[in-house]
Amino acid sequence: MSIPSIDLNNGVAIPQLGFGTYKLPPADTRDLVLRAFEAGYRHVDTAQMYRNEREVGEAVAASGLPRDELFVTTKLNNAFHAHDDALAAFDRSLEALGLQRVDLFLVHWPLPAQGRYTEAWAALEEIYASGRARAIGVSNFQPHHLRRVLAEGTVVPAVNQVEVHPYLAQDEVRAFGAEHGIVTEAWSPLGRGAVLGDPVIAEVARRHGRTPAQVVLRWHLQRGDVVFPKSATPERIVENAQLFDFELPADDMVAISALDRGERTGSHPDEMNDTGR
Ligand code: NAD
Repeated sequence: MSIPSIDLNNGVAIPQLGFGTYKLPPADTRDLVLRAFEAGYRHVDTAQMYRNEREVGEAVAASGLPRDELFVTTKLNNAFHAHDDALAAFDRSLEALGLQRVDLFLVHWPLPAQGRYTEAWAALEEIYASGRARAIGVSNFQPHHLRRVLAEGTVVPAVNQVEVHPYLAQDEVRAFGAEHGIVTEAWSPLGRGAVLGDPVIAEVARRHGRTPAQVVLRWHLQRGDVVFPKSATPERIVENAQLFDFELPADDMVAISALDRGERTGSHPDEMNDTGR
């Protein structure tokens, strides 16, 4: 199985499918990430907040795969937007992962009440300049947060990782990204399972002889977004990667996109201000 890549705005290629690791049981994370690599995934999404960078790093080391064939993303935790805190937190990530560099480092949330995300961004720009992150980006940024980053920063974020699934199509945020060369990464691409029982999705899946999860993930891929579904079930890890031998016709794409009802499973970026301190 060959997973297509997308070129980020600095020419770095990101595999369009990755493996999500939020809330994986820590004791199982190493083995589940290894399962994902066996199933063909070459991209793994973790975060300081998930407290599993060490186990992800163990899987990377145990896989025996050449480092340049793997794409590893991690994210700056909310308590560390101050410049020096961000640099120190990044060092701890590299140490936990056991890596010399990551492929992508993100500001996890903008935390607008704290108002220091452009300071955090300046620290990420330094990390990028040092070569220890091949690309940098943001997560959960609304267009008005991105405008400030574009105005005050010197590097255009390579990605914006936001909640996207059929019940939350995120047309405005995605269009802003497309206009500025910022790739959209769709987190909770399955709506944490909430969209999988939808009758429209079930009907499309039945007609194509696929599972609802495969149809939803295929919908994301054909929209051009990057996805990293999470599963702690080995069979589903395999199922969620079998996406490259079928295509949804335009009418199915339209029918799934029409399910948008602005429904979030997670926090709204303008309201999320928990630094975890
Ligand atoms: P998801 O949409 O990937 O859903 C995961 C859940 O869907 C699983 O726990 C399981 O219950 C179900 N599922 C998975 N595969 C299935 C299948 N084939 N059939 C039936 N059910 C299936 O949700 P997620 O884990 O929240 O999001 C994916 C990844 O996105 C995370 O692991 C994390 O890496 C990232 N993420 C980032 C942020 C952020 O703020 N940047 C927030 C949430 C998630």
